[in-house]
Amino acid sequence: MAEEIRNILSLSGGKDSTALALYMRDRVSDMEYVFCDTGEELRETYRYLDQVEAYLGKEIIRLNAKGPFEHWLKVYGGYLPSPQMRWCTKILKLKPFEAFIGEKPVISYVGLRADEDRIGYISHKKNITTIYPFKDDGIGLAGVMRILEKSGIGMPPYLEWGRSHSGCYFCFFQKKIEWVRLLEKYPEDFEKAQSYEKLSDDAGKTFTWIQGLPLSKLRMPEKIKQIKVEYQKQRERLKKNRKNKKLVEVLAEMEGENESIACLICQL
Ligand code: SF4
Repeated sequence: MAEEIRNILSLSGGKDSTALALYMRDRVSDMEYVFCDTGEELRETYRYLDQVEAYLGKEIIRLNAKGPFEHWLKVYGGYLPSPQMRWCTKILKLKPFEAFIGEKPVISYVGLRADEDRIGYISHKKNITTIYPFKDDGIGLAGVMRILEKSGIGMPPYLEWGRSHSGCYFCFFQKKIEWVRLLEKYPEDFEKAQSYEKLSDDAGKTFTWIQGLPLSKLRMPEKIKQIKVEYQKQRERLKKNRKNKKLVEVLAEMEGENESIACLICQL
């Protein structure tokens, strides 16, 4: 008898994995939906997932790591995760996902779109076969937006206040302007992120989310002003170059600004 193959789709709270979940709802009846919860996700993500769950008519299983972020931060000696040392994705996202998967064969559905060529930070466990339905079916950003609109779910709500990706509120992949927006929208989350930083005269004992710019400095009014001015200039430059572009092309361009380094399991 052939071995049973499980179908698993991991949602991040981002638009692409959400659209993929909606897209697959009537295509794979035994799909298992999961969400790897770091416990430090954007507030909107939890509400958004509840909405998606209602639409799917099926539970989105919340997977947690063994111990919260603060525990692991201690284990890593206060060393904040960074693009070079991304222990957070490994411990808080990939490990719980792989534990859930176990050792039997699994098809993992990933929402990489037809109009992007990111490679991505995915599990390479031998029993997992990763497939990309949007790539296979030629669905790009416009298609994703259509799926979200048609379902009534809409785009992820954090986009409204200018955060570009799902994932943790303190994610080191966010731009300085997004830190400013976090401070303005959810000051308590900014405070918490700041409390994880360690400043010292000894560079080896200094841990900040942005290299060379502690959040205590980023939040100073003059620094905020400078970040906003720089961001505005950048916008103006982009606007000039995009005169004849369609909205969907503009969105894709904005998204691409820091997409190349983002991780699929957190931010797709
Ligand atoms: S969203 Fe960012 S901080 Fe959170 S686990 Fe992913 S890479 Fe790490």
